[in-house]
Amino acid sequence: METYYKHSGKVPAIGVLFGFLAGVLVSIPASYLYDYGIIEITTDKLRFICTIAFGALVGLAAGMGMFWGKVRNNLVAATVGAATSLAALYISWGVWLIDIYDRGRWISNPSRLLMHPGFMWQVILQTNSTGTWAMEHESPTAGAMLWLVWLTEALFIVGFGMLVAFALIKRQPFCEQCDSWCSKIEKIYYAPTMQPADLKTKLQNRQFECLPALGQGSAKAAHFRVVLHSCPTCGTLNTMTLMKTFPKDQKTLIDKLLLSASEAESIRHARPAQAIAAGTK
Ligand SMILES: [Zn+2]
Repeated sequence: METYYKHSGKVPAIGVLFGFLAGVLVSIPASYLYDYGIIEITTDKLRFICTIAFGALVGLAAGMGMFWGKVRNNLVAATVGAATSLAALYISWGVWLIDIYDRGRWISNPSRLLMHPGFMWQVILQTNSTGTWAMEHESPTAGAMLWLVWLTEALFIVGFGMLVAFALIKRQPFCEQCDSWCSKIEKIYYAPTMQPADLKTKLQNRQFECLPALGQGSAKAAHFRVVLHSCPTCGTLNTMTLMKTFPKDQKTLIDKLLLSASEAESIRHARPAQAIAAGTK
């Protein structure tokens, strides 16, 4: 038996399709918002947050589409996330170009422009040489500096889109026997009364009785958090994830250690008393 849970790698075609479509659909209104954001917001820092939010939103939509379509392959999730955010970047370029060259008609339709990538590229080259994007300065940014800004923007959008889609698919185990995600999730908080490395070793050696000895922890203070994922249908697939959440130090110490049904049950039963009301979803 494996020690840690791993996705089977299965990729239903419909899952990829849903992921891509969901991401692209969301990117259409998001492109208008993003365009509005980067044009209206004058602070570089806030613009930067807009860029990250745009990528993350598209990745979230793509990830949710794939989750719904039961994609259990981290590499495919990341690839679809990247491809979708690349498409979203393209759409956002169309919306932005239409907006700056067609001011006054605020919600212009960029679909004709988007159908002609060659022409769009010419417009981009032209825009780069004249420059539009002023970085809190008087003169517009153009040329190499502007390429650098655009490249950074593209990397962040595609990077965050990829990361979020990947994280969404990686997050939950999938029960192949029941063909469903392990949607039974329990979070248990423990006090940080042991060295993280010691706790990690003990749990890897399946000494789960050390958990209640830690005492109850609080979500609001430094704590160890155990997340139990279980298949709600058969109950035979159970995993445990251990995270440490210390101020400025958050880390996953154990990622989806496979448990037997009785091990999962004993951890649930031995949880610190007052914590029972919290966490069960
Ligand atoms: Zn199951």
